Amino acid sequence: MSDHYPFENLPLPYAYDALEPYIDEKTMQLHHDKHLQNYVDTLNGLLKDSPYLQTMSLVQLICTTSRLRPQIGIPIARNAGGVYNHRFFFSNLTNAPSQGPSPELSEAIAHTFGSFAAFQEKFSQAAKSVFGSGYAWLVCGPQKELSILTTANQETPLTLGRHPLLTIDVWEHAYYLKHYNKRADYIKDWWNIVNWDWVNAQYMLCLKPNCGKIFWGDY
Ligand code: MN
Repeated sequence: MSDHYPFENLPLPYAYDALEPYIDEKTMQLHHDKHLQNYVDTLNGLLKDSPYLQTMSLVQLICTTSRLRPQIGIPIARNAGGVYNHRFFFSNLTNAPSQGPSPELSEAIAHTFGSFAAFQEKFSQAAKSVFGSGYAWLVCGPQKELSILTTANQETPLTLGRHPLLTIDVWEHAYYLKHYNKRADYIKDWWNIVNWDWVNAQYMLCLKPNCGKIFWGDY
């Protein structure tokens, strides 16, 4: 069971070179096989001697760490967040043709941001604005409202009570080999490979009555 200890590094849902030319093969290999693998291995090491924590899912761990001793809670939060954020990021990318936001999500985006173009602009600006390492997210809140937020390092929107719909990893390791220091170029390329089917599915989960609990199962 990949959602409990011992966590596994799930294979990418596409080939390493599938996202070319927008994200290069070498970046995807290193990002998945080295960076994410390191979070998985470190998390398993941290949980090795804690049978109680070993019963928890990734989301449960992330939402529990603030109640643990900081010496163990902080490293678990960082590494469980690293696993969660990367799984989410890789899942919301695809090389398959994507139809874009569903009618329900399109309506919510237009209602919140004015238009899809305005949403894209605001999301891109948020991704550019992350100082150092982190992520930009489209999230759904307790009232089913959409918003854009950024998180630093491996923090997640889950601890803010927000349900993630879409994310971009803007750590330099996500783009430096191809785009060098030009994060804006990476963000522009990234829009071409968003897996809207995944994003639409997350939005439908958020619209369920129990979304506020955010423990919606695997992932
Ligand atoms: Mn990353």
